[in-house]
Amino acid sequence: MSCDFTALAKSGIQTLKPYVPGKPEAELARELGISDIVKLASNENPLGISPKALEAIQAEQINLTRYPDGSHFLLQQKLAAHLDIKANQLVFGNGSNDVLDLIGHCFLTPDVSAVFSEHAFIVYPLMVKAQGAEAIVVPAKDYGHDLDAMANAIKPNTRIIFVANPNNPTGTYHSIDAIEAFLSRVREDVLVVLDEAYIEYQPEAISKQSIELLARYSNLIITRTFSKAYGLAGLRVGYGIASESIIGVMQKARAPFNVNSLAQAAAIAVLDDADYLRRTIACNQQGMQQLSDGLLALGFSIIPSKGNFITFDTGTDAMSVYQALLHEGVILRPVGVYGLPNHLRVTIGTDEENTRFLDALKKVTKEKVVKD
Ligand SMILES: *Cc1c(COP(=O)(O)O)cnc(C)c1O
Repeated sequence: MSCDFTALAKSGIQTLKPYVPGKPEAELARELGISDIVKLASNENPLGISPKALEAIQAEQINLTRYPDGSHFLLQQKLAAHLDIKANQLVFGNGSNDVLDLIGHCFLTPDVSAVFSEHAFIVYPLMVKAQGAEAIVVPAKDYGHDLDAMANAIKPNTRIIFVANPNNPTGTYHSIDAIEAFLSRVREDVLVVLDEAYIEYQPEAISKQSIELLARYSNLIITRTFSKAYGLAGLRVGYGIASESIIGVMQKARAPFNVNSLAQAAAIAVLDDADYLRRTIACNQQGMQQLSDGLLALGFSIIPSKGNFITFDTGTDAMSVYQALLHEGVILRPVGVYGLPNHLRVTIGTDEENTRFLDALKKVTKEKVVKD
């Protein structure tokens, strides 16, 4: 007789549902036997890897029998200089997802609560639940975070508040002034996790201003990633920036070799590839315009976005549109698990990919109207 190991798991983990990623192209190809697939499901950089990062990966291959640098020394030095902060204000992870998990691992217990918004990035509820902590979910305002209501939702046992800026999947955004006004209302023993996975798509001045907040708010942790604008999603590298005291705690608890050697080499190299970042931002701006115009012209309402994606209202059960698009070889992301069952999220692709998507959407929604 075998044992019921679910019953032996931590209670928060027993009821978790696994994270569902965007459908891989190869999976759709296997399922439907189609080729020429456009994947706009996971907010990946459509330009492909930076040539500088690729060169660094190739040079690093020779060392793959060795463990990576467990202290991420070169990457830490390089990024500290790039951001104009001290090296001991940085902690790295296997994607910023790993950093978010690490924050939960370090600071959440079944005795505390954590605050986040309705429609916020799904990793927050997952990790809060996994740690057995109480989740306080604050209703969204115009699909975005209601920062005042979030500050008001803090309880005596609240340990963390999560703010995704911009948020995924809604793309909603708050100015630095609004973030600072919010921070000034939060008790200093409540950690504020400011998730800036899409910061590189904002003007450079904004990136600097959010780092400057760290000097005034010792309870602030900013998380960022190389997965989105820097185009290294497959390598998994992200980081947290905070006071030395918070980073010190996280360094004690992280896994020893949590960023692989290819990822470290590529991240160092891509920080020097200003041209890649410029091209990425330009492609995103053009694509954002193209997709917004295209979606509005087809009669869909969109949530204005500051990320590399747009979430739009299909006006019906989004899964039927999602499935119809799959048959056209276009993969989007359903966002029902985020409490948005009628919306789909589309990642901004190249001009060609965006056109493919808009043509497919036009086709499948017209067919639907004819059938209805
Ligand atoms: C994509 C994303 C992340 C994490 O990405 P990693 O690949 O794990 O670095 C974190 N937060 C938000 C809001 C995201 O959209």
